[in-house]
Amino acid sequence: MILRARGLSRSYGRTPALREADLAVAAGEIVAVMGPSGSGKSTLLHCLAGIFTPDSGEVWFRGRRLDTMSDARRTELRRTAFGFVFQFGQLVPELTAADNVALPMLLGRTRRRDAYRRAGEWLERLGLAELGGRRTSELSGGQAQRVAIARALVTGPRVLFADEPTGALDSLTGEHVMELLVGLAREEGTTVIVVTHDARVASFADREVIVRDGRVTDPYAGMVTS
Ligand code: ADP
Ligand code: ADP
Repeated sequence: MILRARGLSRSYGRTPALREADLAVAAGEIVAVMGPSGSGKSTLLHCLAGIFTPDSGEVWFRGRRLDTMSDARRTELRRTAFGFVFQFGQLVPELTAADNVALPMLLGRTRRRDAYRRAGEWLERLGLAELGGRRTSELSGGQAQRVAIARALVTGPRVLFADEPTGALDSLTGEHVMELLVGLAREEGTTVIVVTHDARVASFADREVIVRDGRVTDPYAGMVTS
């Protein structure tokens, strides 16, 4: 298991969002997290990704405890081992598609030339070869989400976290984006955790876990793992 959560609880003030959630995800697996609006899916994702700290419980990533790590180490881990795609791409609108994809590499220690070469390769893999020089504010929703996927995968993350990645797209575009995301993740061996309301999006996953009232049903969570 690459990622594992045990007994995760988290409240916002007096509103409980997660209650003793258990989850186990195998390396290379594509897991859809489903459930009603407000059930705690985003909170679960944020806790697994080390963006939020749970009030109690444990998160393990490749045998390392994530929730008790120092902020500096957790930030470093997020930068190097995790990729993120959100509902609205959160691209930098004034920058070009190529700039946006190169950005995480430039923030690391990649040389400019190499960063832009790799950004170009990834844009090509997502069918965006012609749009590298275009500002992302000028792209369609589907194109922008493909740029966001390129940016999330270009650093070679172990785990890609996606929160409603198709939520702002029409269903056909959403399916196409999801197909690309899953295809590339499989080629790269990337583990994917995708929060979605959409059963068609979830149908691309290897399995679904359901969140209801902050409780997670995951039959794999009890498995003995390293
Ligand atoms: P989902 O992703 O399934 O829609 P969330 O994890 O966003 O669920 O939210 C779970 C619960 O926590 C909901 O009741 C929601 O209203 C509440 N919640 C989420 N974020 C906040 C916040 N920043 N402040 C207060 N309550 C929040
Ligand atoms: P989603 O269901 O896609 O996660 P939401 O509309 O539930 O989106 O939440 C959008 C943002 O608002 C999130 O940052 C979430 O933490 C915050 N939020 C959600 N519910 C509440 C709430 N009851 N009070 C304050 N902030 C909230």
